[in-house]
Amino acid sequence: MAAEIIKGKPIADKIREEITAEVEDLKKKGVNPKLAVLLVGDDPGSVWYAKSKVKIGEKLGIFVDLKTMDADTDQETVLKTIQGWNEDKDVHGILVELPLPKHLSKEAVMESITPKKDVDGVHPVNRGYLLGGQEHLALVPATPQSCITLAERAGINFRGKRVTLVGRGDTVGRPLASLLIKRDATITVCHTKTVDLAAECRRGEIVVAAAGRAGLVTKEMISPGTVVIDAGVNEVGDGKYVGDVAPDVAEVAGALTPVPGGVGSLTTTIIMNNLLKAIKLQGLA
Ligand code: NAP
Repeated sequence: MAAEIIKGKPIADKIREEITAEVEDLKKKGVNPKLAVLLVGDDPGSVWYAKSKVKIGEKLGIFVDLKTMDADTDQETVLKTIQGWNEDKDVHGILVELPLPKHLSKEAVMESITPKKDVDGVHPVNRGYLLGGQEHLALVPATPQSCITLAERAGINFRGKRVTLVGRGDTVGRPLASLLIKRDATITVCHTKTVDLAAECRRGEIVVAAAGRAGLVTKEMISPGTVVIDAGVNEVGDGKYVGDVAPDVAEVAGALTPVPGGVGSLTTTIIMNNLLKAIKLQGLA
């Protein structure tokens, strides 16, 4: 039987309704949610993501202040801008689009963001909370949170499940491993040194692919009925994107998140949700 396709859009729409209601309540209390976004350079993906934040923010009643800087901007200027936002009580969230130009230190830039305004969960303090199981105190990175939210809102429960995670990257795999442990999953984390990836995947009742390799997870690697969550985004030319999961996996999986239209369609909404959490962590709501 063909897999149930878990689409991101209806779930994103529902979360956006909830955000809109919360934003209205905040405004009645005199809090006007504001997210500051910094885009250094003109990486096409980053430009697209930054603009989409402005657009979605408008729909939700959230002001997204997008600041663009030339690719050759020096680190001091970048840090000064972030410092200004850290100190500005009208700015509730700060996000710096990645990747940054090579001459800038990603670590220094990420560490300069006040943890309670760090809506993409990149600061070591937020990573630490996540690793320590204190998710309620953490601002969680958007893509791993999207994987969890998409599955949970589709009725999937991680408790006690064998979850095989393909990828231990900084952006998706590692934070996702912490989120899964918190949800009582029994996890196996795979990477390029994993000896038999197919066997590890076949053992999983849930498989999450976050490797950034088109078609890495094939039909032969998936046991019938498995829930497959595809976080991969791989450009294949002509502006087209595919995930890490081969299309024929749909023939054996129980449920599958599509690419595009799955995990990726939730991330900006999750950022806005994180902004509301940031406002609470700042004691403003
Ligand atoms: P990353 O840092 O590049 O890490 C990739 C991970 O996959 C590494 O742990 C790597 O293993 C593992 N891997 C690569 N090839 C493999 C193979 N053949 N077999 C087993 N493991 C393999 O990636 P990331 O930044 O965490 O991102 C992961 C994916 O998520 C990418 O496709 C990215 O585009 C996507 N992503 C999606 C969104 C979204 O909005 N949907 C946002 C951000 C990222 P090693 O550790 O051994 O190298």
